[in-house]
Parts: sequence; C-alpha cells; structure tokens
Amino acid sequence: MFNIVIFGKPGSGKGTQAKFLKEKYSLYHISTGDLFRKNIRNQTKLGIEAKSFLDNGDLVPDFVTIKMLENEVLLNNQVKGYIFDGFPRTLHQAESLDTFLSSINLKINATIALDVNENELITRLIDRGKTTNRSDDQDIEKIKNRFNEYNTKTSILVNFYNKQGIYFSVDGKGSVNDITLRLFGLVDSLI
Ligand code: ADP
Repeated sequence: MFNIVIFGKPGSGKGTQAKFLKEKYSLYHISTGDLFRKNIRNQTKLGIEAKSFLDNGDLVPDFVTIKMLENEVLLNNQVKGYIFDGFPRTLHQAESLDTFLSSINLKINATIALDVNENELITRLIDRGKTTNRSDDQDIEKIKNRFNEYNTKTSILVNFYNKQGIYFSVDGKGSVNDITLRLFGLVDSLI
C-alpha cells in the first residue's frame, strides 16, 4: 500500500491533482471537503452539523471530521492505497490519523504540500466561485478566514511530518499539467 496526504492552502489544486494521482497510482481518493458537501446536499445529520462551518470557512470540529474519515477508510478497504485530500488539517487530526492507520496496520508514506502564494490563490478561488455554487469561494472575508485557519491550524503539520521524514513540497504554480508532472516525478521517486 502507498498512502499519500496532499495538502495546501484553499485553491492550491489539491482536489484537481488528487484525481490525477488517484488514476495513475490506483489510489482511493478521500476528500473531506467533498464528503462534507455530499452530506450537505443529501441533508444527512452530518451535513446539517457541518453546514455552518463550511459556509463560514471555518474548520469543522475534529471529532466530526475524524469519525467521518475513519468510516470512509473502513468502508473502502480493498484498495491499493489512499490519497487523503483535505485531511488532516489540525495536529489532533494528524495524530488521530497515525493512531487509526497503525491500528489497521497502515501508515502514511508521503505527505505532499502544493505551494502557491495567497494572492494567486485569491484570484483562483474568486474565479472558481463564479462557476461553482460554493458560497465559501464567493466572499473575500470567507476566503481570508480559510487562509487564517490554514496558517494557524494546518501549517504546523509541516513540522509534524518533517520530523517523520515524510514531508515533501511541490511548486503549485504553473499549468495543471506541469504540476501533475512534478507530482508524478516525486511520487515515482518514492514508490
Ligand atoms: P478548500 O481547501 O478549497 O478550502 P475543501 O473542499 O478541502 O476546500 O474544504 C472545504 C471546507 O470543508 C473547509 O473550509 C472546512 O469547512 C471543511 N473541511 C474539509 N476538510 C476538513 C478537515 N480536515 N477538518 C475540518 N474541516 C474540514
């Protein structure tokens, strides 16, 4: 099994690139953002619980997110590996993921951050907000709040994974294809 965490600030292209990685390396893609949005569309209990957090650009509380993630892994266990997109986003989530994976004899093999500056990201997100109905992409204050959540809660994971020797960063600027090739180059060198 080869398990990857892809992370980066909102708009950095995690979801887009995760799809290419999933295809190339036959991984099972778990996007916590997509799972929340699916639950919101279907008006499940989880969706109702999570909605206001997504609408405001706040992180959903850890206990809700961690449980959802673990269920998704357990329900899809006949796979060659996972690509975790948008999880973990807090130190507690990262520690829980390690504990959970080791309880089922798995581990994270690589964490890859897509590096893009915030000005470029604001342009990308506002553009995305015009073509999707994501309310969190249509308001500059919500976008800034998501950056703030990232900078205060998620960026410390660099250190957490660096200490484990599994942190890598890829330049997230350029064409989608350029970035995909950078990622493939990195993953090929690790597998
Ligand atoms: P983006 O990275 O562009 O913000 P995502 O689809 O990954 O888009 O996430 C959208 C929203 O879903 C987040 O702003 C947050 O409210 C919620 N979310 C996703 N993943 C997590 C997580 N691991 N922990 C808490 N909240 C999350």
